Amino acid sequence: MPEQEALFRSKEALHLRQEMVWNAWKLWERQYVDGNGGNLSCRIGDQYVLCTPSMCSKADLTLEDLCLVDLEGNQKFGRFRRTSELLLHLEIYKANAAARAVIHCHPPHATAYAIAGQIPPPDLVPEQEVFVGPVAIAPYETPGTKVFAETILPFVERHNAILLANHGVVCWADTITHAEWLIEVLDTYCRTVLLALQLGSPLRTIPHPKLQEILKIKAYLGLPDARFESQPADSQYDFPVPLKAQTLALSPESEIEVLVRSIAAAVRARFGFGGTANGNLAGPNTAETLETR
Ligand SMILES: [Zn+2]
Repeated sequence: MPEQEALFRSKEALHLRQEMVWNAWKLWERQYVDGNGGNLSCRIGDQYVLCTPSMCSKADLTLEDLCLVDLEGNQKFGRFRRTSELLLHLEIYKANAAARAVIHCHPPHATAYAIAGQIPPPDLVPEQEVFVGPVAIAPYETPGTKVFAETILPFVERHNAILLANHGVVCWADTITHAEWLIEVLDTYCRTVLLALQLGSPLRTIPHPKLQEILKIKAYLGLPDARFESQPADSQYDFPVPLKAQTLALSPESEIEVLVRSIAAAVRARFGFGGTANGNLAGPNTAETLETR
């Protein structure tokens, strides 16, 4: 069996392909992908990526439909042609080593913001602040082109969720499962804000001291956030610059440490997230995840 087919059929790749097919189904069920739209990928080893094929509904995807490609986009195995949007995924992998999985899709509420050329207002819901945080919007370019793929480069270091103007969204994480969660959190947030705006009263943001507590939880969990990387002069946050998750030092006696650790432990227990030394998310074991579903 050729080397690349052997990799495609390895136990590790099988687990990743199962995770991709399951999450593709979740995206379709939640109406985040339409027609043959949307695409998923994840890294396998240092040199290869598994990705969805072109012209395939995510509801119909099977384990054998997936493609194995290299980091230049050359197809190495698979019966169908790789997605034409792979270039977008590859730019993210090359620009940010923490990105091990990427999902691009068209969730309606987040895409509504992308069409309007707006990012959703910040600081309204803790779930959004912890898992996504500030959202970026990349300028419009023709999908599938190298120029389009490169539109995310100014944002991918500091944002795990990016709106694509007049198109959709792209999210990255350490696993496909977590990338799908980010899509869900982002679109739910956009939908909730759009509903809240119809109620007629001004939206009430989370008080600044409470936002700082959220950010400390986020740093403790090792999640990326644009606010950790730079502090504009008029910033409402008083973190040191730059704040890195692994350098966050909390006083052993401080109340906030007790609060942060207890909430972070609860979040990890519920969602399987855990901060690691390099700031990546440590996701649930893929096999365990699949077995429990
Ligand atoms: Zn698209």
